[in-house]
Amino acid sequence: MAISFTFSDEQQMVADTIYRWASTWLEPQMEELDEKDEFPPDFFKQLGELGMVGITIPEQYEGAGLGYTEACICTENLARISNALSMTWGAHLILCADNIKRNANDALRAKYLPGLANGTQIGCLGITEPGAGSDAMSMRTTAKLDGDHWIINGSKTFITNAPPGQTLLFYAKTAPELGPKGISAFIMEIDPSPPGYDCQKIRKFGMRTSPTGLLSFDDVRIPKENLVGELNKGVAILTGGLTTERITLSGCAIGSIRAALELSLKYAQERVQFGKPIAAQQMIQEKLANMYVGYETARLLMYSAASYVDSLTDKRGGKGTTLDIKAAASLLYAGETSVKATLDGIQIHGGYGYCLEYPIQRHFRDTKLWDIGAGTSEVRRIIISRELLAGTKWV
Ligand SMILES: Cc1cc2nc3c(=O)[nH]c(=O)nc-3n(C[C@H](O)[C@H](O)[C@H](O)COP(=O)(O)OP(=O)(O)OC[C@H]3O[C@@H](n4cnc5c(N)ncnc54)[C@H](O)[C@@H]3O)c2cc1C
Repeated sequence: MAISFTFSDEQQMVADTIYRWASTWLEPQMEELDEKDEFPPDFFKQLGELGMVGITIPEQYEGAGLGYTEACICTENLARISNALSMTWGAHLILCADNIKRNANDALRAKYLPGLANGTQIGCLGITEPGAGSDAMSMRTTAKLDGDHWIINGSKTFITNAPPGQTLLFYAKTAPELGPKGISAFIMEIDPSPPGYDCQKIRKFGMRTSPTGLLSFDDVRIPKENLVGELNKGVAILTGGLTTERITLSGCAIGSIRAALELSLKYAQERVQFGKPIAAQQMIQEKLANMYVGYETARLLMYSAASYVDSLTDKRGGKGTTLDIKAAASLLYAGETSVKATLDGIQIHGGYGYCLEYPIQRHFRDTKLWDIGAGTSEVRRIIISRELLAGTKWV
């Protein structure tokens, strides 16, 4: 078995292109955007012009036809500058467009994928509800067929990209009496807002440039043909999508670990106290060494999980799959390590680390989400231990 730990020329080009763009176009704006909690309106247009939006979407739908490994390269390198906008990119591409690619019929693919892949349309995914977070299967949003339309009632919360978005992929109960076996997936066009639809922006302490919405549906009508996949088979779409989501979004946390290490290395060598740079102190060196080990370990977990999912023909996730273990482990480790690394980074910066002009604190505020979003750390541990105890293949 050959194991390669180096990127191909094409993968390195993806990493360099996205990081160069993020550090020249995005970085100078980040402090102000974060303070005002504003999403840069040209974000997807700019990335679309670089060919960096539809990375995993086939070329026939205006994508780049690459894999989840390349998607992780994008999230990691974008998050070195903005964890929040890396999440926004991932929610658009992996949670919405990629799930449509994997599960919708040809007509829906042809209708929705080109705009999502070239960055002229913004996508989002609605699973979570006010009363159904970790217990997503207890969702209460319903879809009832009425002639040629589905009538949607209910609500979704914490939906990344919904405020500026156009295309919502979401789940609703089509047979509530069947529990998880009565859930289906749908596409709703949300811009312009259809009658009965409302979206309120949620205020957050982190991920501030990534817009988050609380959605409500009051007899919203969507065309019958906007059912994605088979009726009442939505759980398979949801669990499969969560695995690629967890792997790809690990890159958001990993980009912040790398940023914390880069910022801290620079600061620790410049800041002089007691007549020498603080980097000369062993207690500072210990933090830097721990950040490095955390970064390398998190990266290995993410890229090995990404290369595993790229190698699978059937990318099914959920109970009984090795993919579920690898995806949960990748985000569990990356999330918790990034919180520790960014906190250590603030400590190295002393009082300046507490000030808004130093980006280290923004990485901490943003990356705390990775203990929570895409299934909390507790839920990821439940998944991993459930599969280990069930005898699912893990090596
Ligand atoms: C900024 C942001 C962006 C998001 N983007 C999206 C999005 O685009 N689409 C989407 O659908 N959702 C999104 N989410 C929602 C996110 O996935 C949920 O917040 C998450 O799944 C947790 O659900 P909850 O917040 O309802 O917490 P709860 O489920 O209420 O959990 C509260 C606490 O209880 C713990 N807990 C719950 N059950 C158990 C258990 N069985 N054992 C042990 N501990 C348990 C949890 O781990 C957590 O610590 C986003 C959230 C945020 C904050």
